[in-house]
Amino acid sequence: MHHLDTAVIGAGIAGSTLARALAVRGWETLLIDRKKFPRHKVCGEFLSPESQSMLKSLGLSEYVESLQPSVISRIRLILSNGKVLEIPLPGIALGVSRYLLDSTLHSAALSSGVHIQTSTTVTSVSPNNKGYLIETKQGDEHRTYQVRALIAAWGANCRTMLPGPHPKGSINNSYMGVKSHFRGVGMEPVIELYFFEGGYLGISSIGGGVVNVSALLKRKAFQNGDKTVLGLLYECSRRNPILHQKLADAIPVPETQTAVAPVDLTRKPVAWDRIPLVGDAVLTIPPLCGDGMSMALRSAQLCAPLADSYLAGDITWAKWQRDYSRSILREFRGPLQWGRLLQRLFDVPLLSQLLVGAAHYTPGIAYGLVQATRLKENNE
Ligand SMILES: Cc1cc2nc3c(=O)[nH]c(=O)nc-3n(C[C@H](O)[C@H](O)[C@H](O)COP(=O)(O)OP(=O)(O)OC[C@H]3O[C@@H](n4cnc5c(N)ncnc54)[C@H](O)[C@@H]3O)c2cc1C
Repeated sequence: MHHLDTAVIGAGIAGSTLARALAVRGWETLLIDRKKFPRHKVCGEFLSPESQSMLKSLGLSEYVESLQPSVISRIRLILSNGKVLEIPLPGIALGVSRYLLDSTLHSAALSSGVHIQTSTTVTSVSPNNKGYLIETKQGDEHRTYQVRALIAAWGANCRTMLPGPHPKGSINNSYMGVKSHFRGVGMEPVIELYFFEGGYLGISSIGGGVVNVSALLKRKAFQNGDKTVLGLLYECSRRNPILHQKLADAIPVPETQTAVAPVDLTRKPVAWDRIPLVGDAVLTIPPLCGDGMSMALRSAQLCAPLADSYLAGDITWAKWQRDYSRSILREFRGPLQWGRLLQRLFDVPLLSQLLVGAAHYTPGIAYGLVQATRLKENNE
């Protein structure tokens, strides 16, 4: 049996960042993920402007800069009727491959002393009087860990593995996400969002002459036809003539195609389900906002000092729960509500046309909406 201070389940953006922040504070930390890394992940790969200050205060900017991400300064919305709206971003965003980003965050965590176990399944979690007993399986190898604190960074699609009642509510199965990298697509420093019947698709440069193409699709609207990732992306391009032109010479990068379902945009935010949750485990902000990764970073940033105080014996488990849940609600509720409103508007072609039309005459509307979905910058 291995004794550690803390374990984090899920080694995406939120988990790696939090594990590193705890190791930096001197706690022996285990980071576990069931997947083998590096891995491609469905994501627009757009690191929003507000994430820059978070990366800086987490000591991660240099790691991200070493990946030579592309720089993005504007959003361009392109409707299927040909209407186009361009909005400046409230700062500089970055385009960076998740394949590289997540691995780089692992390197940062490792260099701070985090123990990382990937391709590892957590087979059971049992609370006990010393914290949590975790059993894992990696190939044929079984391990048992006793930790004082356990944190869930397991993303949007893992409900819980703790014993006891599971959160109420059914999963909304309406959307799926797909993505592929392509070469041969010219890009300005812009993230382009194409809208069409049944969904939307984002294109942005991620450096090295490669663009990321990802889409959020209503499953019902894509029931017929080719269900491969590339088949679905080509079907999107048939629904928006400008997108069709854009992807005319695009060459898919082999083995970068990936899909996720369901993408549940109706889930109630939950910051604590017997243990603290971070990142997408807390909530799913509509991908349209491009803010999921900065929320993952921010939740790790909010959780780390409280976990530190708990492990140091300065606060109780109950105070950690109360303070963390309050700060998550305070910071994330506004962007989530505005993000869901925008998602609903762009779900209805007529409403999105009206919105884009109004924003042409009053550019402040579009900028105001973009701002409303953003996390407020925090220089902690
Ligand atoms: C179509 C689409 C486009 C998007 N575009 C953007 C964008 O442009 N910009 C942006 O900021 N955000 C975007 N997002 C959202 C963004 O991808 C997520 O918010 C972000 O990945 C959340 O990070 P995370 O660390 O919380 O979760 P994840 O990155 O999902 O990591 C969770 C990890 O937990 C692991 N895991 C799950 N269950 C277990 C288990 N039982 N045991 C062990 N490990 C487990 C998984 O393997 C995974 O590696 C998009 C999402 C979608 C669907």
